[in-house]
Amino acid sequence: VTDWQGKSVTVAGLGVSGIPAAKVLHGLGAVVTVVNDGDDERSRAQAAELEALGITVRLGDARGGAAEGCSTLPEGTELIVTAPGWKPDKPLFAAAAAAGVPVWGDVELAWRLRGPDAAPWLAVTGTNGKTTTVQMLASILKAAGLRTAAVGNIGVSLLDAVLGDEQYDVLAVELSSYQLHWAPSLRAHSAAVLNLAPDHLDWHGSMEAYAADKGRIYEGNRVACVYNVADKATEDLVREADVEEGCRAIGFTLGTPGPSQLGVVEGILVDRAFVENRQKNAQELAEVSDVHPPAPHNIANALAAAALARAYGVPASAVRDGLRAFSPDAHRIAHVADVDGVAYVDDSKATNTHAAEASLAAYESIVWIAGGLAKGATFDELVAKSAPRLRGVVLIGADRALIGEALARHAPEVPVVDLDRNDTGAMLAAVQEARGLAQAGDTVLLAPACASMDMFANYNKRGDAFAEAVRELGAASA
Ligand code: ADP
Repeated sequence: VTDWQGKSVTVAGLGVSGIPAAKVLHGLGAVVTVVNDGDDERSRAQAAELEALGITVRLGDARGGAAEGCSTLPEGTELIVTAPGWKPDKPLFAAAAAAGVPVWGDVELAWRLRGPDAAPWLAVTGTNGKTTTVQMLASILKAAGLRTAAVGNIGVSLLDAVLGDEQYDVLAVELSSYQLHWAPSLRAHSAAVLNLAPDHLDWHGSMEAYAADKGRIYEGNRVACVYNVADKATEDLVREADVEEGCRAIGFTLGTPGPSQLGVVEGILVDRAFVENRQKNAQELAEVSDVHPPAPHNIANALAAAALARAYGVPASAVRDGLRAFSPDAHRIAHVADVDGVAYVDDSKATNTHAAEASLAAYESIVWIAGGLAKGATFDELVAKSAPRLRGVVLIGADRALIGEALARHAPEVPVVDLDRNDTGAMLAAVQEARGLAQAGDTVLLAPACASMDMFANYNKRGDAFAEAVRELGAASA
């Protein structure tokens, strides 16, 4: 689309993607209607802001039911730009398909408006580790003197990144499976799929559909498709992708790297894929101790970030400097405090079983606080693998019985406290119960393996409640 003047565009969903999309399209001369499920105070304030610009906003119809709002296609719609989280089976999209109206996400819109001729995208997806990896990547690119930013699913709209005043040489782009689903024509310079494990299956409909959406990130890559040697599904996606001629498959591994791989040799991160000095067949990048925290899954993230940076041509020294300068975001294996010889660690961001498995693998003897919204997950594999490390378990949240049943099957000897509470004091009670189960030298680990929205607004609030509870415990013990 080059002529937006007078074009009727429906923007589905207010929020971090919908508001910039509506403003950009309105600015281009399109006739914009925003439809939004929610009709709460916040949506009304956002709607008022857009209406003041002359944009039509329809609120309500939260149940996706009949009539007004989101379930009917506004008259004359020629294009829908949707918030990434909107499920493909919504009536609005059925109506669009029937009318032959295309549906783009905000990432697709950003790409179509300015993707190919703005800064190249180094893109990252995966079930877990995306945010950490793009932040590491941005840190490495900055250490190389490049103008860059971590953008996308990390909370910075791609529209703002590609249309804003700031000039970039290259972008470190986090993409969710939802964003990829709605971004069919996106073409990255290079991309990585970190890992693939069941998540959001209620949204995508099946593991196959989820994997296919993730795999879109490799389509049309020009320089490198980065995959996880330990996760064959990621390599399969590279094989299935249609890429530019000369684009290479680059693996990362926690073991000794083969040709065209990055890996670890005797505590050193090494690169055998992009070797600068022709005399050598491997380039040293950094020490394992340069990675914070040096947990195995996080070293994998660092290798993936290094692979993308090296594909862009960044020197080895910038990888080391960038990793040293990086510190992880809150609620990702954050050490909160030691109380009476027990360490308390907040990994509230472990919102699915694959993430929880990685954090449980980083400790020896654990009192595990788990539970929340399961999002269709099963817990047998996680519990069976982690059972030898469990001193005890405290279960919270709506779907805790699913974890309790898996524990009964695979770890019947591990003591479990089933906390049947979801009031605001529940996290303090959980921490107190955990303390009762823990012995000196143990780690009390909040790694819920579930989403937080049954008890908290988001995982940040859940992690904050945990940290607050640990502080109260510390104060009481002092
Ligand atoms: P995302 O953006 O994909 O949600 P984050 O970097 O925010 O990923 O990390 C989310 C959680 O996933 C972390 O708290 C940690 O428990 C776990 N995690 C991080 N990296 C990995 C990885 N490479 N493999 C498995 N789990 C991981």
